[in-house]
Amino acid sequence: MSSYWAPYAWLPHGCQASVSFDVAQGRFAHVRVGVEPGAGQEILSGVTLPGLANGHSHTFHRGLRGRTHAEGGTFWTWREQMYALAAHLDPDLYLALARAVFAEMAQAGYTAVGEFHYLHHDQGGRPYVDPNAMGHALIQAASEAGIRLTLIDACYLVGGLSATGHLPLDPVQTRFADADVDHWAARVGQLEDDHQVRIGCAVHSVRAVPAKALNKISETAGERPLHVHLSEQPAENAATQAYYGRTPTELLDDHGLLGSRTTAVHATHLTDADIKALGSTQTSACFCPTTERDLADGIGPARRLADAGSPLTFGSDQQAMIDPFEELRGVEMHERLASGERGRFTPGDLIMMASEAGYRSLGWPDGGRIADGALADFVVVRSDTVRTTGTRPDQIAYAATAADVDQVVVAGEAVVRDGQHRLGSPARLLAAALDQLGTA
Ligand SMILES: [Zn+2]
Repeated sequence: MSSYWAPYAWLPHGCQASVSFDVAQGRFAHVRVGVEPGAGQEILSGVTLPGLANGHSHTFHRGLRGRTHAEGGTFWTWREQMYALAAHLDPDLYLALARAVFAEMAQAGYTAVGEFHYLHHDQGGRPYVDPNAMGHALIQAASEAGIRLTLIDACYLVGGLSATGHLPLDPVQTRFADADVDHWAARVGQLEDDHQVRIGCAVHSVRAVPAKALNKISETAGERPLHVHLSEQPAENAATQAYYGRTPTELLDDHGLLGSRTTAVHATHLTDADIKALGSTQTSACFCPTTERDLADGIGPARRLADAGSPLTFGSDQQAMIDPFEELRGVEMHERLASGERGRFTPGDLIMMASEAGYRSLGWPDGGRIADGALADFVVVRSDTVRTTGTRPDQIAYAATAADVDQVVVAGEAVVRDGQHRLGSPARLLAAALDQLGTA
C-alpha cells in the first residue's frame, strides 16, 4: 500500500485542500479532506487531478503533425495525406509509433485513452495471420507506455457516401475494411479485455458503414462502449440527407444506436432535432477542439448538447497536439468565441468531462475520480512553473500545459515522475519511430 498527501486535490465535490489518500491493489482508499500529512506519506506538490481520459485517438496520425500546413486545403485534402501515411504501417512500425505516442500522452497527463482503431489489414487489404495483429500491437504499446487502453475497433465497409449511394473502397481503404459486418464482428470477438484493457466497438461513420450493417454492430457492441464519428463535416450531412433522407444522427437513432453506451465523436454540425435526440438518450459527445480547429471542421454545440443531457468528453484525435489542458480549455474557449460569453462551463464541469465522463465513455465507470474504491489513476500538476505560478488551485487547468505535469499514476503505478516518463524521453521514441516510417 502507498499513502499520499496533497495540498490540493480535485475530488468529486470540487477542489479540496489538505487531502490524504491511500492506494492499495490499484484502487483509492481512505480519501480524507482537511488533514495534516502523516508519517510515511508521500507529499505531493501542486494540484492533484483525477485520471484524465483521452476519449478519441488515432495514434498514427501523430506522423502528420506539423507537416500538412503549407498545402492549405480542407479536411478532405488532409485525409489524402493521412491515407498515404497509413499505407506505410505494419504491425512492428505500428507498435513502435503507438508506444511513443502513448508515452507522449502519459507524460502529458492522460491516464486512459480510447484508440479508435481502423487500420486492420496488410498493405494489400488481406488479414494478417493474426487478424488482430494491428490491434494487438496497440494493446502491447499501451501496456509498455503504462496507459489504460480502450481499443475501439471500428467497422469500415465502404469507401464513402454520395447522393446516389456508397462508393467502392479505394486501395488504401482496403486496409481498413473487413469483408462484411459478420467478418468484422468475428474478428472483434477474438479481442479480449484484461486488467488495463477494454474492448469497444465503433461505426467508423455513416459514410463508411451502410445502414443495413448498423443493427449487427449494435448487437455486437452489447453493453460495451460504442463510438461513431458523427457530423464532423457538412459534406457528410449533405450526402446522408440526399441518400437516406435523414441526418446521420437520425439514421443512428433509427437503428437503436443512440444511448448511454454510445459516444458521438465531434458532433459538430447538428440540427436542433439531432441535439435533442443525442441529449435525451444520454449519448455522450466527444469534442476534439485542437483537431476540429486544425482541420477547419467548425465549432460544435457543446453547451447545447450538455443542456440537452449529453455527457461531454474530449479527445486528441489526430494528435495535432497532445495536451489534455488545451483540449479542456478548448471546449470552453470555442464556446466563448461563438457566444460572446465567458464561463460557459464551470471549472468543475471541465474537470468532470476530462475525468469521470471520459472514463465512463471508455468503459471504465469506476475510474476518473479520486474516491474510495475507484481506480487509482491520478495526475499531479505543478503550481510553481512560469505558467502556473499565481493561479488558484481550482483554476489551474486554465493555465497549465502538458509541460506542467509532474507525476502520473495509473492503477497505483508511477508512470511519470518529475515530469519524466518511465520509458525515457517520448521525443526520442517518436524520433526513432518516425525515422523508421520515413517521415522524420
Ligand atoms: Zn477520429
